[in-house]
Amino acid sequence: MARKGCWTLRRSKPSLPRGGALRLSDYPGDAVHVVCDKCERRGLYSKDRLIVRYGAEIGLPDLLNRIAADCPRVVNLLGNDLCGAHYPELLV
Ligand SMILES: [Zn+2]
Repeated sequence: MARKGCWTLRRSKPSLPRGGALRLSDYPGDAVHVVCDKCERRGLYSKDRLIVRYGAEIGLPDLLNRIAADCPRVVNLLGNDLCGAHYPELLV
């Protein structure tokens, strides 16, 4: 058996959250509330529709990145005034 490196130390983008990360299916209620303070944007998204689109297993941080993907500040990777999108009801 060939061993290639050490898998346990490999750091890659997690596709599935582990530990403390909540998933979309864990979000309380039927509507997902997203607020961006810096862009002064607010969004209410149907949880059912989000599940259809992204799957119930998607992590909430990952989902937030996708929801906020059209935020103008997300694109500005070189700046330090990045998008402040978050879930106000989850305090994360
Ligand atoms: Zn934003």
